[in-house]
Amino acid sequence: MSPPLARLTIDLDAVAHNFAALKAEAGSAETAPVVKADGYGLGAIPVARRLTAEGARTFFVARLDEGTALRKALGSSPVIYVFDGCPAGAADRLRAANLRPVLNSLEQIAAYGEGGAALHVDTGMNRLGLSLEDAVALAANPALLSRIGLTLVMSHLACAGQPGHPMNAAQLARFQEVRGLFPNAPASLSSSGGIFFGPDYAFDLVRPGISLYGGGPHDDAHASIRPVVTFEAAILQVRGVKTGETIGYGATHTFEALGEVAVVAAGYADGFLRSSAGRGHAWYRGASRRLLGRLSMDLIALDVTDAGARAGDVVELIGPHCLIDDVAKATGTASYEVLTRLSTRAERVYLGEA
Ligand SMILES: *Cc1c(COP(=O)(O)O)cnc(C)c1O
Repeated sequence: MSPPLARLTIDLDAVAHNFAALKAEAGSAETAPVVKADGYGLGAIPVARRLTAEGARTFFVARLDEGTALRKALGSSPVIYVFDGCPAGAADRLRAANLRPVLNSLEQIAAYGEGGAALHVDTGMNRLGLSLEDAVALAANPALLSRIGLTLVMSHLACAGQPGHPMNAAQLARFQEVRGLFPNAPASLSSSGGIFFGPDYAFDLVRPGISLYGGGPHDDAHASIRPVVTFEAAILQVRGVKTGETIGYGATHTFEALGEVAVVAAGYADGFLRSSAGRGHAWYRGASRRLLGRLSMDLIALDVTDAGARAGDVVELIGPHCLIDDVAKATGTASYEVLTRLSTRAERVYLGEA
């Protein structure tokens, strides 16, 4: 059997390590993993199964269908919240799969009826959630409140990736007001970033996503968070290039000296952004090497001058030497997008499956 030309390794032991690190940071608050978008592209079901074995009891997804699939895989015990809430027509399907919506508006509250739900109150992000005025009106209607069966009141930080941003303290103050309106419900404010803002931001439950998957909580590598994903691809061909020659579509890179190029079996169809042209790096034979020219759908060119490169050798494109936060910076995006763009073409290997 020939070895695969490209392999995505997802280290669930590292996910478990990151879960423990986030739990330690969150103190007595419950740590409830966010596994939306198929676990940030890494596989919601294997991730959630392993985290269940690590003691997670509550999960968050974005879409109803994600929740339905997760319920089927995990069985009846964990609590599963759906961030989308209860759009028109969703109430019966939510109840049938024993999913709890995160209700985002008075319309959704009316559409849901009863059965247990979280409430999302906007504290400044202006994305989902009731306005503060609507929350005040709801709090003054105990009959409606008890019909919903409120199990959590939450909000979301707009600047969780930027510890010094004044928006964080402003949202914290507003959320404390919100909590006062619903004193009997557990409260939740923080995603990965906010978990590292100290105990004031922890409340009763935290909702980490990206840092479970190896992204730093503040868009940079963090000492307590381990990389989860490794993407390796094989060198298909090594070629010598002469001064003045160019490489790739658009002939965007011109060699200023003799050199050697490795052509690697990965490309934008695997999820590597074309915008990393001229800025990205890969790791090979103990050193960081430049990506050269535009990457193609299936191929990436790497400067391996004087490295003694050979066809068949393996290059690391994401991993412990090419952290997702650094790959993101080189491409002008965020670690979240690096992960969720990884395609299913490469062979996937899970380490530490529960
Ligand atoms: C995606 C999301 C999270 C998780 O955020 P991370 O930055 O990935 O930790 C938490 N809460 C809400 C409402 C979200 O949409």
